[in-house]
Amino acid sequence: MSLNIDSFLSQYRKLPDFIDNNYLEADSERYLKSYDPGLGAEIAEVPISSSKNVDEALSAASEAFKKWSSRPILERLQYLVRLKILVQEKMDELAYALSMNVGKTLREGRGEVMRTLEALDSALGVPHLFMNVRKLMNIGGGDPEIDMEMVREPLGVFAIISPFNFPIMIPMWFIPMAVTLGNTIVVKPSELDPVPITYFMSLFREAGYPNGVVNLVNGDSSTSQHLIKHKDVAGVVFVGSSPVAEKIYSTACASGKRALCQAGAKNPVILMPDAVPEPSIENIVAGFFDMAGQRCLAPGLLITVGEAYNRFIEMLVNRVKKIKIGYQLLEDTDTGPLASLKGKQKVIEMIEKAVGQGAKTLVDGRNYKVEEKYSKGFYLGPTILDDVSPDMEIAREEIFGPVMPIVRASSFDEALEIANRGEYGNTGTIYTSSGKYAREFARKMNAGNIAVNMAVAQPNQYFPFPGRKRSFYGVLHGQIDALDFFTDRKVIMQRWW
Ligand code: NAD
Repeated sequence: MSLNIDSFLSQYRKLPDFIDNNYLEADSERYLKSYDPGLGAEIAEVPISSSKNVDEALSAASEAFKKWSSRPILERLQYLVRLKILVQEKMDELAYALSMNVGKTLREGRGEVMRTLEALDSALGVPHLFMNVRKLMNIGGGDPEIDMEMVREPLGVFAIISPFNFPIMIPMWFIPMAVTLGNTIVVKPSELDPVPITYFMSLFREAGYPNGVVNLVNGDSSTSQHLIKHKDVAGVVFVGSSPVAEKIYSTACASGKRALCQAGAKNPVILMPDAVPEPSIENIVAGFFDMAGQRCLAPGLLITVGEAYNRFIEMLVNRVKKIKIGYQLLEDTDTGPLASLKGKQKVIEMIEKAVGQGAKTLVDGRNYKVEEKYSKGFYLGPTILDDVSPDMEIAREEIFGPVMPIVRASSFDEALEIANRGEYGNTGTIYTSSGKYAREFARKMNAGNIAVNMAVAQPNQYFPFPGRKRSFYGVLHGQIDALDFFTDRKVIMQRWW
């Protein structure tokens, strides 16, 4: 039976886990609150699932792996086809769930579902990858002859630990490939806004996936720690902040598990004096302020070069003042609230520290007023900070909020040096009309994703999502390297008398 999100929430105000295709109450002594951040109203309680719940999910996934891994890949693919149709049918419902619980606008919610469909599409081609078997016949020249071949096998249970900002898309970057290649999954979503992905689990059941192939446990860091340390977990995928990525990567690798961790960011944008004015400013503003700046690919620092400051600053400020902050479910809202009160407070503290260190507010979003009925929401207006020096925390650390710190550089070389100075390497962007500078930037910017005249450099699912420095831990990527990450090689030698 097809569930809709409202009946789901009225049935499961205390969010369940999803184990063996069943929604089960978690064995939790403590519940956290999950909100509609635009209303500041609690919509669900999130259990801290116990070790026992994690063990049950892993035991379901391990048991399911025995049969699932030996089903023909073309059969496994059929579930994916059905899942894709369900996601398409449920587009509005899923966008609504994302918007309500994360605070993104409906347009941004639909965007996340579109990206989820892209991940499903890319996994539909996986049998072609899987056919990549290497075989050498008669390798030794003896009699009888020996043949040697390399095949790939799924590994077992993968744990996926995901962040709050894309609660459906991020687990779905990995699940379609992982399960179609024959593995099984336990997801531990962010405790802030797990409603959309907990609801999404019902679609796996509806698509007909056998019991135990995809499971979910709600909880916090204690739940994920128990999960990643468990002997029955073969591999770990983590997406979230860098300090947590560092811990998870070392814990997973120390116990012989394969791991990939996509982590935090501080994405610099260089604005050259020769940038094409209107589309560049429009695009930069959307990059910094859409989703209230809570994207790992959101620009984090604007570096103006020479005359660019005088040429663009007024236009930039005027455009930012027009952004309509409001309740995320209203169609005319440009940007919704932050996902949590804690996140909002952290951003305000960073702004205050920067102001204390001499930064000047050209636009100050700290006291942004929304309509009275939304006044309990976690809103923050857009802020532009001028006179920022590259050494200030606001110029170096991820803000994850609607803030644009501006650093002025006198030349392209100086701007590039500032852009490369940081500890992160997720993306780097340049706005220019010059092919020469664009090319030099692409060559010398030390980041995984480079954009020219585009603020948000999100590679689509057919490319890897690389990151450098503290933005990525691991070797293989979950997208283009999915075959290598989610399968293991085996060499089989045969001689027949
Ligand atoms: P977070 O690191 O606080 O939490 C991510 C997940 O890790 C959550 O499920 C959380 O419960 C769990 N967790 C937290 N502490 C843990 C611990 N000590 N041990 C085990 N698990 C733990 O991140 P967040 O605030 O949810 O998300 C925002 C961060 O994610 C930002 O830094 C952003 O840049 C990053 N992010 C990166 C990408 C990327 O692809 N590089 C994509 C999205 C978000």
